[in-house]
Amino acid sequence: MDTKVVKFGGSSLADAAQFRKAADIVLAEPERRFVVASAPGKRFSADIKVTDMLYSCYELAAKGEDFSAAFAAIEERFNSIIADLGLSLSLEKEFSDIKNAFAHRAGRDYAASRGEYLNSIILADFLGYNFVDPAGYIRFDESGSFDLAATLSLLSPKLAQLQNAVIPGFYGSMPNDTIKTFSRGGSDITGSIVASAVNAVIYENWTDVSGFMICDPRIVENPKPIRTITYRELRELAYMGAGVLHEDAIFPVRKAGIPINIRNTNQPEDRGTFIVSETAETSPYIITGIAGKKGFSVIQIEKDMMNAEVGFGRNVLRALEKNNMCFEHMPSGIDTMSVIVSSEALIGKEKSVLDEIVSRCHPDKLEIENNLALIAVVGRGMKKTRGTAGRLFSALAHARVNVKMIDQGSSELNIIIAVEEEDFETATKAIYDMFVLTAEK
Ligand code: ASP
Repeated sequence: MDTKVVKFGGSSLADAAQFRKAADIVLAEPERRFVVASAPGKRFSADIKVTDMLYSCYELAAKGEDFSAAFAAIEERFNSIIADLGLSLSLEKEFSDIKNAFAHRAGRDYAASRGEYLNSIILADFLGYNFVDPAGYIRFDESGSFDLAATLSLLSPKLAQLQNAVIPGFYGSMPNDTIKTFSRGGSDITGSIVASAVNAVIYENWTDVSGFMICDPRIVENPKPIRTITYRELRELAYMGAGVLHEDAIFPVRKAGIPINIRNTNQPEDRGTFIVSETAETSPYIITGIAGKKGFSVIQIEKDMMNAEVGFGRNVLRALEKNNMCFEHMPSGIDTMSVIVSSEALIGKEKSVLDEIVSRCHPDKLEIENNLALIAVVGRGMKKTRGTAGRLFSALAHARVNVKMIDQGSSELNIIIAVEEEDFETATKAIYDMFVLTAEK
């Protein structure tokens, strides 16, 4: 039988009603044998995620302050789920062990991990599934980096013995067996690891949206969903700030060639977005998605005969390296070069970066321009389509947006443009209208 791995995010397991929806989804298909669970998330927008409650509760404990009220509020979140589901399960023993560990300063990661741990015990009980604690199977190395090879060698044989299991997301353990978490949102990574360990046919990631949208719904109202996206396209969009899935969650399944399907727990009939390595499916539009970010600066350098000066580019980049800075893009002309960097990274280092460039490169003109936004227009379909760039720039010209920089990746998978921050929303809308709305008429 094919095996599917399903992961539920915090909002999908925030209360008993959400637990019921998740359980209906799992039990609807016998292939859904392995379930990865997050800690209870927000039930309403002003609510607090259990993970955040755990962090603040532990902070009190670590300072030696009284944390019993904060801990009781966490117990209450879990107890109300248990009661509302009508389970006879009791977590009293676990609560007292955890409280004790908090008092003995078991560590911030340990504290945060208890949300997924307790929630998974409840979900396993409700589904009648086994419970597997990832502490013994998901391993980090001495330096704190996730160790995929060690993990697969432990987790695959363990899960092969089981018909089904619920596995808490977000954490594993260090070589000395202390608990270590991934970064926030890390249950997505656990789902990907489990999918790879059992060689799943698909990794279903159930959340509160029906997959990725072509563009940010805060900028364009009701944007169209992305039906299928390749890992590479997703990486380009995620880099530019398109959220939903933890960036590191792609790597384990990508390596194993397992597709990811982003689905909506509250609208299980929606098909969601498929993330695949290659696809024969042409996207309905030339572009797959648009994403962007504000907060960039450009360092502009001019020097006569720059093009003939051996090592000029290297000297500019050495100046950044010396200041421990990365660059995002580096478009160049014959006698000009622009280096685009994150403004945040540049703050406080402006003078030392400029001084370094002056002493290494002796430019004729050197200045920093701030308040730029970058927009990535991504699509595997762009390669085959003539006139994409033409349409893009005419859309921007019509919207009266001044384009400050253009960079087309050598893979022809993306075109990145820089605009003034104040033009960011207008530009994004204009691109969406041109490639999605107009394409439908
Ligand atoms: N509960 C953790 C967090 O809020 C991990 C997760 O949900 O993926 O970041």
